[in-house]
Amino acid sequence: MRQPIGDILGQAMTPPTAPELLQRVLAGNRRWAEGDTERDLLGAPTDPLEHQPPVAVIGCSDARVPPAAVLGAAAGAIFTLRLPGHYVDIPVAAGLGFAITSLGTRLAIVLAHEDCRAVDAAYTEYTTGVPPNLALAPLTGSLAAGLHRAGGATNVVDAINVNARVTAQNLITQCASLRQALIAGTAQLAIMRYSPATRLVTVLDESVLP
Ligand SMILES: [Zn+2]
Repeated sequence: MRQPIGDILGQAMTPPTAPELLQRVLAGNRRWAEGDTERDLLGAPTDPLEHQPPVAVIGCSDARVPPAAVLGAAAGAIFTLRLPGHYVDIPVAAGLGFAITSLGTRLAIVLAHEDCRAVDAAYTEYTTGVPPNLALAPLTGSLAAGLHRAGGATNVVDAINVNARVTAQNLITQCASLRQALIAGTAQLAIMRYSPATRLVTVLDESVLP
């Protein structure tokens, strides 16, 4: 029988810091990519009635990118906020603020991904002025505006990275609790890009500051 990950790392008693959490979700992602089903509590309580997720993920609705699974995290470890293209609106920003101020969340991750249909549509709208999908148009129009404000993107792959950084900046702008925690050094904001093809994440920015 395998030893629980928290015990192996000797961190069952001491809550992991944000940089330690980052390393552990990256290790969890490598396990996911290898098909290993072991999940890390990341220092969250083992009692299923307690809600103290150390990590928050702001991700896309894409069904191929379930945050806790792709980061090898157990139930209770990750507070999740998901809209297509990881769009940030008032409820998303408020949810992240709640996690940081009330649940003890210390690491926030923008989890972008390759082959993102929302970003594809936003990039098309950014380059042509025409929304390719009318159902998604209100959302992709906002994402396209974000690409424009960020200085544009050279191709759709670049647009994924630009959009991820726009998400991070929008979180900092719209979530005062995140901003304060980043300045105080009590929380960390990272940006990652997931590949459905390799099942691996790439760290775009380890620590985004206001
Ligand atoms: Zn997507």
